[in-house]
Amino acid sequence: MAEQLLYEGKAKKVFATDEEGVLVHRYKDAATAFNAQKRGSWKDKGRTNATVSSTIFAYLEAHGVLTHFVEQVDEAAIKTRKLEMLPIEVVVRNIAAGSLAKRLGYEEGTKLKAPIVELCYKDDDLGDPMVNWYHFRELGVSDEDLEFCEELGLKVNEILTPFFDERGVTLVDFKIEVGRDDDGRLMLADEISPDTCRFWDKETGEKLDKDRFRRDMGGLVEAYTEVARRLGIMNEMENVATKGPKLVQ
Ligand code: C5P
Repeated sequence: MAEQLLYEGKAKKVFATDEEGVLVHRYKDAATAFNAQKRGSWKDKGRTNATVSSTIFAYLEAHGVLTHFVEQVDEAAIKTRKLEMLPIEVVVRNIAAGSLAKRLGYEEGTKLKAPIVELCYKDDDLGDPMVNWYHFRELGVSDEDLEFCEELGLKVNEILTPFFDERGVTLVDFKIEVGRDDDGRLMLADEISPDTCRFWDKETGEKLDKDRFRRDMGGLVEAYTEVARRLGIMNEMENVATKGPKLVQ
């Protein structure tokens, strides 16, 4: 399969393929935080995230969510549908943490009365600010697309909250992105992994996500591997992805 680099992001490289409308996302071992002001790299992070994200996308597809996921190609790479991305980051929260805890003056860990959805304008130079529907209209995004984003965020939350709970993990919050294919269909895109979610151990509250890097806590790959292990997709001893994503029903 010939791969031509189209784009290199902070955590992945995106390649064109010989197949019409299909891309390959190759996950890097790098991590960045605070809009890339903080950088690090960990062996095995890329393949752990690629496998976790593939498993979650396959699970969501099996539960009626249209996604860009086609198949996992190898441990660190995923085939996806080629999409036109909306300039939106959709954040959904169940428990106050991170920027929401600061914004509302809540103690981190406070359970929210109902899930909160936030829409952010995806722009690295601006630091992905949270903006409202008026701003998005100004930026040329339609109300239909905004509604789709909010509904998709809530639907993904409804599916994934019990999925993780059954595996001993609290889904605190997460970020998703949305894109449109050539036929005009909007769908879930990008990734869902410990880089883009807050996962807390249900019993101990231990952080199993990128906050370990943001907050200099150490143990990042161990935490990411633990998430993969809870999903039943990693060899616990070797920290090596198994043959591909196994759909966990
Ligand atoms: O920092 P904040 O509390 O707003 O993050 C909310 C959620 O969105 C977290 O799970 C975080 O990992 C994710 N996020 C992300 N990419 C961003 C901003 C936030 O994946 N650019």
